[in-house]
Amino acid sequence: MIDDERLRTGNESQLTDAKKRGCLKRFGILLLLSLLLFLLTQIPFILRRHQLARLSNSIEELDSRRTTRADDNYHDYKGVIHVHSMLGGHSTGRLEDIFKAARANKLDFVVMTEHGEQFVNTSDATIHGTYDGTLFVGGNEINVRGSDRLLVVPGTNDPVGTTPTAQYIEQQRAAGKLIFVAYPHEFQSWDARGYDGLEVYNIYTNAKRINRALMFFDGLWSYNAYPDLLFARFYERPNENLKRWDMLTSNNPSRRITAIAGNDAHANIGIGLRSDSGDQVLGFQFDPYERMFRILRNHVVLEKNQPLTQDSLLEALRAGHSYFSFDLFSDATGFLFTAEDADEKRIMGDEIKLDGEVRLKVHTPLRSQIKLFRNGEVTREANEATAQEFVVNERGVYRIEVYLSQLELIKDKPWIVSNPIYVR
Ligand SMILES: [Zn+2]
Repeated sequence: MIDDERLRTGNESQLTDAKKRGCLKRFGILLLLSLLLFLLTQIPFILRRHQLARLSNSIEELDSRRTTRADDNYHDYKGVIHVHSMLGGHSTGRLEDIFKAARANKLDFVVMTEHGEQFVNTSDATIHGTYDGTLFVGGNEINVRGSDRLLVVPGTNDPVGTTPTAQYIEQQRAAGKLIFVAYPHEFQSWDARGYDGLEVYNIYTNAKRINRALMFFDGLWSYNAYPDLLFARFYERPNENLKRWDMLTSNNPSRRITAIAGNDAHANIGIGLRSDSGDQVLGFQFDPYERMFRILRNHVVLEKNQPLTQDSLLEALRAGHSYFSFDLFSDATGFLFTAEDADEKRIMGDEIKLDGEVRLKVHTPLRSQIKLFRNGEVTREANEATAQEFVVNERGVYRIEVYLSQLELIKDKPWIVSNPIYVR
């Protein structure tokens, strides 16, 4: 009896062992299959990392073949507009980091746009003046009514209260402020006049449309080697805002509207740990100021004898003597869009009278695809050009977009967007 029992127990334990081994084997196979499947799903991201490597090499090569403008009457100043610090609202950014980022990018100007706070005049408290060659101007981002938001420079501590947007703009304009409609896709009060321009592109708005799953795996494979170029993965031409801007300028024969691009830098997107002093000790920060200031810039063009001061900067922006560019793909310094006829010479932002014909001239520092827009439609194009002349004999609002068509990954997205020349 006892022997039978032992035999049965022995058999049972052998059976259990065999079952266990079978289970383990199945688990092993499952694990291997899952690993294989995971690796398969990662292949596209490995290839995407190679694309960024190619993009990086092509940018370097392009940059080595930079040309300079023969016309030497103008100087190009580069800077950023729409920057927040910890002084106002939802930013953790330190003023010290903004200084460092401006210096690292050799910026000529930084336009701060602090959110309003109840107990602090944030535009007074933020950075003003020139430090290490960078001119800082303190401004505000103001929530007016509903979803209407404005960039007001220099800043204002005027309470918004219940003032309608149109009236608020008139008040600020009377006070001599420069006013831009921020986030035009959310702005409601289009009957308002008196603003100087539109923020047609905003990095933060663009980033909100990121496909997070794609970006997570792209980040996993590419962040270490190409943290800046990950921007190429999500940046888009701001089609809707450009359309609105074209419509506003084309339909108002007496009106000129400047386009700017906002970095909307907050230094508040990231994963990780910070020390008590605010330094990143672990993890990533996706939008450090230094990177944000490298990706996108506004350039203003002044006559050579005119120094860059707060007044000359704000006047140049008001006049639209400016363009914006995604300098991450190459610094666009040196781009120029001018118009001339027998009597006069004008630059982007200006009006010129049509008297027979007008010669529109474009210079870009790199060989590129130049598109001439008239009232929002592409009317002429040049490929592989650094200097191009378009002769026009029709009235209209003419502006330029430049594309780096050699860079496969971004060939359909603009590198430079200029302000218009109004042929009237
Ligand atoms: Zn903002």
